[in-house]
Amino acid sequence: MSKHVDVAIIGGGVMGSAVAYFLARNSDFTGRIAVVERDRSYTYAASSRSTSGFRQQFSSPVNIALSRFSIAFLKDADRQLALGDERPGITLVENGYLYLGNDEHVAAFEENCVLQRGLGANTILLSPEELARRFPWLNVADISIGSLGEGGEGWFDGYLLMGALQRCAISEGAAFLHLGADSVARDPATGRFSLGLSDGSMLTADHVVNTAGTGSPAIAAMLGLSLPIVPVKQNVYTFECAFRDEAMPYIFTPDGLFCRPEGPTYLAGTGIRPEDREVALDDFEPDYERFDSEVWPLLAHRVSAFEALRFRGAWAGHYDMSEFDHNPFVGSVASVPGLYLASGFSGHGIMQAPGIGCAIAELITYGEYRSIDLSDLSFARVARGERMREAIQY
Ligand SMILES: Cc1cc2nc3c(=O)[nH]c(=O)nc-3n(C[C@H](O)[C@H](O)[C@H](O)COP(=O)(O)OP(=O)(O)OC[C@H]3O[C@@H](n4cnc5c(N)ncnc54)[C@H](O)[C@@H]3O)c2cc1C
Repeated sequence: MSKHVDVAIIGGGVMGSAVAYFLARNSDFTGRIAVVERDRSYTYAASSRSTSGFRQQFSSPVNIALSRFSIAFLKDADRQLALGDERPGITLVENGYLYLGNDEHVAAFEENCVLQRGLGANTILLSPEELARRFPWLNVADISIGSLGEGGEGWFDGYLLMGALQRCAISEGAAFLHLGADSVARDPATGRFSLGLSDGSMLTADHVVNTAGTGSPAIAAMLGLSLPIVPVKQNVYTFECAFRDEAMPYIFTPDGLFCRPEGPTYLAGTGIRPEDREVALDDFEPDYERFDSEVWPLLAHRVSAFEALRFRGAWAGHYDMSEFDHNPFVGSVASVPGLYLASGFSGHGIMQAPGIGCAIAELITYGEYRSIDLSDLSFARVARGERMREAIQY
């Protein structure tokens, strides 16, 4: 039997859930919504494996605008995502992002700071002396500059955000079908999409939103579109240490280390290596050896107290990374009317999900962006050969 909806969203991670939420909450949208999600447990979804940081420190205006919209939403999540007396409690910690740079980074940090502050972000630059005063446990001997977001940056529980978006969307009438979208086709005569689902049933839709993460190139290919997005493995390690500073920010160092507190423990990792790119879609094995050979030495170099840490565990997740310019593809596609893309978010999708959800919902409802203009992220930039400049990837 075939069912029909106005909008079928393929992929019910944080991005698909955000699109469903903003569509369902928009009183100008009166259509039916189905989210097609093949893995009810979200075991391998990036949204479950994220470190869920949020920041405004980007080098492109569109990413800063997206983050600022999303962060305002996250800070108001208990109201925006309330269901009766139930509050999502996404445990927002606003300790900031601290990017550390050496001599070669100073000019770029200064330029980015001017841009970010001009767009409303509260980024401040710190000299090594100021860094040492503020964070006496931090080794700044090889550091020339620090860039810190004071307010509106930190981390939260992305999994709770996803669940809360889903519950609200469902309460407004959106259906979540726990099935795979095995095939997708568009009839050029009617403009209608047909989705073949994993239980053998069919779903037809006037609009399709591709929020399938690392599965999005496969969905796009069925509609004749080549999406330059590949799975990239990111290892995350957890450890304990007696050292504690409640004000510790999310730290990013020039040698590729990232580290932040997570409750009473810490999360850390390092940058992407060539062998992390284009991994098999079922390869989620963490690289345990890398902790001892790379991550721990960098941790101990930056914070001497981390010499005495206790390793707790590790996991690996996949970024859906755009090979074109490392920025996502968002919005409609001229060659496939009725199709909308929201994929290729690499390591910044959780923080941007509310902005993306709102923007796609407006595009479907009004045929235009109203709250945030995301034209810079259009897939059309590939045909034009226009790569988006975004220097700050993490
Ligand atoms: C280790 C790691 C750390 C990260 N850290 C951060 C961070 O600090 N801050 C930040 O903002 N972002 C971070 N990210 C990125 C962020 O988590 C992602 O950008 C975001 O979760 C992407 O959400 P999504 O819904 O697009 O994809 P996903 O969460 O992957 O969801 C896609 C869904 O589509 C489903 N699907 C795929 N194909 C089909 C199909 N054919 N039929 C039905 N369903 C299908 C999948 O089952 C999956 O549930 C991190 C990611 C990782 C892996």
